[in-house]
Amino acid sequence: MAFDPRDLIRPEILRLKAYQVADARDMVKLDAMENPYPLPEDLRKAAAGLVSDAALNRYPDSQAAELRHAIRKRLGVPEGAQILFGNGSDELIQLIALALAKPGATILAPEPSFVMYRMIATFCGMHYVGVPLTEQFSLDPDEMVLRIEQHQPAVVFIAYPNNPTGTLFDADAMARVLHAAPGLVVIDEAYHAFAGSSFMEELRRHPNLLVMRTLSKLGLAALRLGFVAGAPQWLAEIDKLRLPYNINSLTQAIATHLVENVGRLNAQAAAIVTSRTQLAHALADMPDLRIWQSHANFILFRVPNAPRTFDLLKRQRVLIKNLHGTHPMLDNCLRVTVGTPGENAIFLNALRASLA
Ligand code: PMP
Repeated sequence: MAFDPRDLIRPEILRLKAYQVADARDMVKLDAMENPYPLPEDLRKAAAGLVSDAALNRYPDSQAAELRHAIRKRLGVPEGAQILFGNGSDELIQLIALALAKPGATILAPEPSFVMYRMIATFCGMHYVGVPLTEQFSLDPDEMVLRIEQHQPAVVFIAYPNNPTGTLFDADAMARVLHAAPGLVVIDEAYHAFAGSSFMEELRRHPNLLVMRTLSKLGLAALRLGFVAGAPQWLAEIDKLRLPYNINSLTQAIATHLVENVGRLNAQAAAIVTSRTQLAHALADMPDLRIWQSHANFILFRVPNAPRTFDLLKRQRVLIKNLHGTHPMLDNCLRVTVGTPGENAIFLNALRASLA
């Protein structure tokens, strides 16, 4: 090559490591918080019909009007709140950050949490402040308030429940953050279906709050659809950064139908919650293993040697997530997504063999 890309690419991008997606061929795949159940047969047939009828020669509806209507009606978005769609909630995190990325602006988030908050701060040239959770992985309200006052973040991201810890932060601690924040607070409810608790209604009381959801964990990861709800004054500005047709027509058509039938997906989520309880009990019974109570569709646990256990599981064709080395508080931690009862049994047997 006549020139070296490294001369032109921003140094902070050169230093980044790309988001890793593991090869899951022929594996029991319990690494990515997917719903393990396929869509029920009748809904698959309906989706096939919608795909067949879609006008693929036309650009999608840029406003996704039908989908907007369905989500407002079925997912409890309060009166007066607006909705903005993203190609997955990842894209929304990026749009929010881009809109707020004034020179010197800061993103603040508790840590360990979802890695994209930090990565996207780097993409957008923003400062990033990670505030450690307590040893129990709960929110430390004193520390959060202190660091918010110190750094005056343009936006605070809080995953509720948190990934990768599975914890659902205390409501009073969350309220203190909401009151202390001088800018936007985004509550990322990616795992809402497994938690039974939400800040959506709080949108009525907090003008600087946005609540973000995704359909990914509900069984529709392949569609790539996230949305954020909040005051129109915020979302109208952030919407200017959205590329015109970010939600494709097939996603719009299928998601509209499935949101209309969200009870069916919630029933799958309820089955996953039951399996989570069984899996947590089985893990808690294992010697030398510590687990944290989860309100999501995955469980975080610590073993004596996580890289070794992870490799031994992989050799038995079970793929989970190794978090060792990703954050100092996650030393020797592994995260398993709750699968079907059959997958969970395979995982538990493989884990017992790996720890023996
Ligand atoms: N927020 C959190 C807390 C997540 O864990 C994830 C996915 N791992 C996302 C957002 C992004 O999900 P998606 O882009 O699939 O909507």
